[in-house]
Amino acid sequence: MSYTQILSDAQQHNAKLIAVSKTQPIDKIKTLYDQGQRDFGENRVQEILLKKPQLPDDIRWHLIGQLQTNKVKKIIDQVVMIQSIDSTRLLDYVQKEAAKKELKIDVLLQIHIAEEQSKSGMQADEMKQILCKIKEGNYSQVNIRGLMGITTLTEDRQQIRSEFRNLHQLLEEGQTIHPEMDILSMGMSGDYSIALEEGSTMIRVGSLIFGTRN
Ligand SMILES: *Cc1c(COP(=O)(O)O)cnc(C)c1O
Repeated sequence: MSYTQILSDAQQHNAKLIAVSKTQPIDKIKTLYDQGQRDFGENRVQEILLKKPQLPDDIRWHLIGQLQTNKVKKIIDQVVMIQSIDSTRLLDYVQKEAAKKELKIDVLLQIHIAEEQSKSGMQADEMKQILCKIKEGNYSQVNIRGLMGITTLTEDRQQIRSEFRNLHQLLEEGQTIHPEMDILSMGMSGDYSIALEEGSTMIRVGSLIFGTRN
C-alpha cells in the first residue's frame, strides 16, 4: 500500500497520519518529508536525538514508545507530543521537567486495551484519577490532549474492533471530566482501517509506509 493511499484514507476520516519511522534511515524519512509528511513517530529517545539534527526543523516528532523517567529531561523539549504516558509517576516527572524548562507539552495517556499483559498502558481508573487532578490545579505544564492505545496482536478483527471501541468509549467518559481531550490515537499498519471506522483521529503507521523493519 502506498503512502498517498494511507494519507487519503486518514484524511477522509479527518484523522492525522503519523509516519512511524523507527529503525528507518534518514534518506527514507527525507523522501517522505519531500512528499509533504511532517508528523513522524519514534519509540526511542536516543533515536529521536540522533535523527532530529539531520532532518528539517519543521518535522513534528511524536514519542510513541515507553519512556523511562530518567530520559524525560532529554526529550521534553525535542518533541511536540509524548503519546506514551503510561503511569501517573511518569506524568509527574513530565510535569516537573516541563515546569523547570518553563514549557507546556502535549501528551496522550496510553491506555491498556489489549488482552496481553505485555502491552503497556494504564487502566481506566488511573486515567480518571489523573483527569480529576487536573481540575484541582495539578499538571499546569501539560496539555492532556487525549488517549492512545495498542490492540492485541491477533487475526481476530472483531476483537480488534471491540478494543478500539472500548478506547473510544473511554475517551468519551474522560471528556466528561476533561473536555479538552480531542485526540484518539489508535490504528497501526495492520488495523488502521478498523481504527478509522471506530473513530480514530490519529493513526500511527510504520511498516505499511516504509516497508518491513529489520
Ligand atoms: C511501531 C509502532 C507503530 C507502527 O507499527 P506498524 O505496525 O509498523 O505500523 C505504532 N505505534 C506504536 C506505539 C509503535 O511502537
